[in-house]
Amino acid sequence: MQDSCNEIILNNRRYYYSVKYKRVKRYHLRISALGVIEITVPMRSSSSKIKEVLLINSDWIQKTFNKISLNNQNNNFKELISKNEILFLGKNRKAIISDNNLYQYNDDYFFVSENWTYKKIFAIYQDILISLYNQKCNNIVNKPKLVIKPLKSKWGAYYLKKHLIVLNLYLLFFDKDIINYVIDHELTHIKHFDHSKEFYIDLYKRCPDADKYRKILKEKTTFINTLITQIG
Ligand SMILES: [Zn+2]
Repeated sequence: MQDSCNEIILNNRRYYYSVKYKRVKRYHLRISALGVIEITVPMRSSSSKIKEVLLINSDWIQKTFNKISLNNQNNNFKELISKNEILFLGKNRKAIISDNNLYQYNDDYFFVSENWTYKKIFAIYQDILISLYNQKCNNIVNKPKLVIKPLKSKWGAYYLKKHLIVLNLYLLFFDKDIINYVIDHELTHIKHFDHSKEFYIDLYKRCPDADKYRKILKEKTTFINTLITQIG
């Protein structure tokens, strides 16, 4: 694990940097794949000296960052981490580089290994959705197949003929209660294809707070959609 992640404003832009103290004579700068400035410094460097080095190199830092975001243009997840932040399970968390290859997160941080591609993050999101789905399907005899993919227009869908549920990968932007509500909603469609009174009676049995979650989902959808449009 790296040292703690610090913040600095350079040319009106916020950057995160981590400091490595080593037995070296010169300062060394690099930008990690996730856009964290890593600065290697001689032992006992003061934090003001470190900030000064970053400031002197601010043009180079900005140029390198611009290059990185250009290279990532075709990448679905660039916006998730372009501000070094990941919107994950309803909360913005700082992306922190970790040596550990397992995914971990807490209230403030999302730990990522440096060699992870966006594909890897995609796979993590998929695993979480699958496990939430499986928990919900515990008591279902003929469990529908599940497909997870990034969708632009809906959070979930049930296809009667294929007996298939599709969940939007971007649900991982929401917290677990909301995701569970969407799964409950789609599972209720197995029996009730439309949004009839009977549909809601069954939905409330699965998810008594369905109204609350539907409201939050609706409120947040505009914001999340703006984000997804940016991701592009
Ligand atoms: Zn529905």
